[in-house]
Amino acid sequence: MKKALITGITGQDGSYLAELLLSKDYEVYGVRRRTSTPNFENVAHIQNDIHWLSGDMTDLASLIEAVRQSDPDEVYNLAAQSFVAASWPQPLATGQITALSVTNMLEAVRIAKPDTRFYQASSSEMFGKVLETPQTETTPFYPRSPYGVAKVYGHWITVNYRESFDMFACSGILFNHESPRRGLEFVTRKVTDAVARIKLGLQQELRMGNLDSLRDWGFAGDYVKAMWMMLQQDQPDDYVISTGEMHSVRELLQIAFSHVGLDYEDYVVIDPQFVRPAEVDLLLGDCAKAKEKLGWRVEVGFEQLIHMMVDTDLERVKRQAAVEASVVV
Ligand code: NDP
Repeated sequence: MKKALITGITGQDGSYLAELLLSKDYEVYGVRRRTSTPNFENVAHIQNDIHWLSGDMTDLASLIEAVRQSDPDEVYNLAAQSFVAASWPQPLATGQITALSVTNMLEAVRIAKPDTRFYQASSSEMFGKVLETPQTETTPFYPRSPYGVAKVYGHWITVNYRESFDMFACSGILFNHESPRRGLEFVTRKVTDAVARIKLGLQQELRMGNLDSLRDWGFAGDYVKAMWMMLQQDQPDDYVISTGEMHSVRELLQIAFSHVGLDYEDYVVIDPQFVRPAEVDLLLGDCAKAKEKLGWRVEVGFEQLIHMMVDTDLERVKRQAAVEASVVV
């Protein structure tokens, strides 16, 4: 039985990856930081199947201990301050968690079990002001947010540990990927949650930033398969994972609202506070290398993804409204 250690297991990707690895009979260990309110929503259904370890990405000792206790074949380093917009008001925390902590995790592996295979969650936000379209593994980086800058550090330190210490370390340059488990502050989930609330009469309007932003959005369940595939290869390498399709925020709104029979133009209000201080350009990934070498494929298309998210949010908001109504009574 293989053993995997996942950081960021309570997040969107961590929960899908844990499910995938459990389905492949892995023993799954998850690093969880102390929070004042436990946050198990994404992993509640598999909570008892996971071996929980206490650790924080900024605390090297706890990560060394996590590697010692789990003795993993594979480490998936997914933990991060992952919200781009929060990286301007919290640039130092973002740098510590999203950038320097990658070195903490690599050091923990190097010290406690150097033959462990290592996956680093890199991001298309590293391309930012794009110097080439579509973007590939060799496109130069030009990040446009403290988050993007931090991810560039995480990417290069992973490459550096591979080259310096001969570690099996891979960096997955993943374009945006979404799901019903996406954090509510991210634009896709913000839209699908608002659509559900508006449809149920619990919200009147949706305040948005730039509707013309274009992104390459895929399904998180597909993307975690690519992470696993990278660590099953003979040689460590870096891969772009993307759909190769671009959609605007406006298109996202059209699909989400029309799925419940509404017109987005009746509800959306443009609010400058949601416009980024520095916008990224057209992020469009070319994942030809992953297709050829990993045999990875997109299984869930954009429209299907947005419908899945709206349907799940409708059910969740209905359930919550029913609970709130019974409490009030
Ligand atoms: P989430 O924000 O959903 O999850 C982040 C996870 O990191 C959570 O489990 C969180 O724990 C954990 N975490 C944050 N800070 C710390 C800390 N100091 N110590 C320990 N754990 C911590 O992100 P996603 O699942 O969407 O993304 C996974 C990774 O992939 C991230 O690194 C992200 O930057 C990267 N990525 C994501 C993309 C996407 O489109 N989703 C695209 C490209 C890269 P807690 O629950 O306690 O907050």
